Amino acid sequence: MLLREVDYARPATVEEAISLLATYDGARPLAGGQTIVNVMKARAAAPDVLVDLADLAELRAIGFSSDGLLEIGAMVTYAQLMGSSEVDVARPILAEVCSTIGDVQVRNRGTVGGNVCVSDPTNHLPPLLVALGATFTIRGENGERTISADEFFIGVYMTAVGEGELLTRIAVPPSSGAGDGFAGLTIGRHGTYIVNAAATISGDGVRIALGCVGATPVRATAMEERLAGGDFSEASIRAAAKGLGALLDPPSDVHGSADFRRDLAEVSAVRAVRQAAERRKDA
Ligand SMILES: Cc1cc2nc3c(=O)[nH]c(=O)nc-3n(C[C@H](O)[C@H](O)[C@H](O)COP(=O)(O)OP(=O)(O)OC[C@H]3O[C@@H](n4cnc5c(N)ncnc54)[C@H](O)[C@@H]3O)c2cc1C
Repeated sequence: MLLREVDYARPATVEEAISLLATYDGARPLAGGQTIVNVMKARAAAPDVLVDLADLAELRAIGFSSDGLLEIGAMVTYAQLMGSSEVDVARPILAEVCSTIGDVQVRNRGTVGGNVCVSDPTNHLPPLLVALGATFTIRGENGERTISADEFFIGVYMTAVGEGELLTRIAVPPSSGAGDGFAGLTIGRHGTYIVNAAATISGDGVRIALGCVGATPVRATAMEERLAGGDFSEASIRAAAKGLGALLDPPSDVHGSADFRRDLAEVSAVRAVRQAAERRKDA
């Protein structure tokens, strides 16, 4: 299907991009275009102006902040992230999970910023970034602010990025001996998840985030508290996950009933925490 007529701008700086987004009510950022072009074709969204972020080199960088956080620009593609030595050293789970997103074309075009800004409950990165305790930097005409992953995701296709603003980068703490895990059930080999779970075990305890069971990633705080004592034996992890499903209110659809998702959430959380426990450097 052909797109409705739309204006197109390709700014050379982040400031110019923000100015365009702030000036035109119907302006939307264009990152990899994997989602926004499809929703435009389906007539589910009709922006007046697409502000293409392709030339903004600042948003394509991967590096470290002065305090040692791994910083990933919003326009970094999954393929770029998978080939990054910085990611490999600091938080390899990011590359591992990105390597399972869609297919080669999606991984070559799709961006980390687009993945989180679309806030699709079935996307891979939102629960992972919540579990890792990532922070998100958003820039607008009035300056820059940084918020936690827990605050970033507001609803389906809704995030803390306001009109006229851009997500510029995501910062992830280096693993420093922490163990990370990711597990779930997909529709097909490289498919969308029916339910997934991400977990990280560090000196601060365990963080567990579930995907596809609500509009935004859901922290499994009851399970986290039960594991706070630091016993990550198989029996302890299984006991901590008991009853997790009953606390959730997942959707039912053609891929699985709400009850199936509740069961799957418990199984996925157990697998993600077990993997994280096995991968801890001090395990
Ligand atoms: C066939 C197919 C299979 C897929 N499978 C998976 C999968 O298995 N798992 C998965 O996680 N994803 C999957 N996706 C989604 C894919 O990862 C998309 O790339 C992603 O959801 C959107 O990223 P994008 O860079 O293409 O963003 P776009 O489509 O360009 O943008 C998405 C939205 O985010 C906004 N936006 C983008 N960047 C910024 C920014 N820096 N600041 C503010 N707003 C911004 C845009 O305005 C738009 O509203 C799949 C997509 C396709 C087409």
